[in-house]
Amino acid sequence: MNIVFIAPPAAGKGAQSGMISKEFGIPHVSIGDLLRNVNDEKIRKQLSLGEFVDNSVIEKLLTERLLKDDCKNGYVLDGFPRNSSQIEIYEKIKSISNDKDNVVIVLDIPKEVGEMRICGRLVCPKCGSVYNELVLESRPKIANICDKCGKTLAKRKDDNKETYDKRYDTYLKETAPLINYFEDKGMVYHIDSSKSVLDTFKDISKVIGGFYDRN
Ligand code: AMP
Repeated sequence: MNIVFIAPPAAGKGAQSGMISKEFGIPHVSIGDLLRNVNDEKIRKQLSLGEFVDNSVIEKLLTERLLKDDCKNGYVLDGFPRNSSQIEIYEKIKSISNDKDNVVIVLDIPKEVGEMRICGRLVCPKCGSVYNELVLESRPKIANICDKCGKTLAKRKDDNKETYDKRYDTYLKETAPLINYFEDKGMVYHIDSSKSVLDTFKDISKVIGGFYDRN
């Protein structure tokens, strides 16, 4: 089963993708994480400004990743496609990877809630776990330390209000219109992600679990 997440920044798509990946045993492929691992000055700058990276880079990174063995039973794709020019790449990638049960999960969240979340987000530079110092249930047990591997947590460079506003506007203009494309294909499930992480996860799991039950 292949799951695509479409969501405004800070809707929790990274956290939810990770949880779905664990629960259903399919890898979490985050294009943002793939890009953050590329050692290239231009890409680093684009990431810190919240600008889209060139499609040629995106296509190459995703093709390489999705053709790996662990993706043969499906994947959770987080952060792609992000604009209409990436639909073509999406269809190409879909046809070369396993092409069974493709679902699009749209996480709905008001801008103000996302903004509050972004100000407190902390990420583990070693294992990628995500926390939030402003949300009680998402705080690390010890301030600034990863619960899972003990590494000191860090803020992402692009997690500031200015970049958030820009990324949210870009989401509305460029990414949100993609929902219509997928809705026309009957692939979309809307989930209210202003709820707690766990309640959101339960709602998503119901949708995905339904597909596994059928197979
Ligand atoms: P994310 O981790 O998904 O929030 O993405 C972080 C940043 O990576 C974005 O602000 C963009 O600069 C870049 N990025 C992520 N996904 C894409 C994409 N599909 N196309 C182009 N750039 C992207």
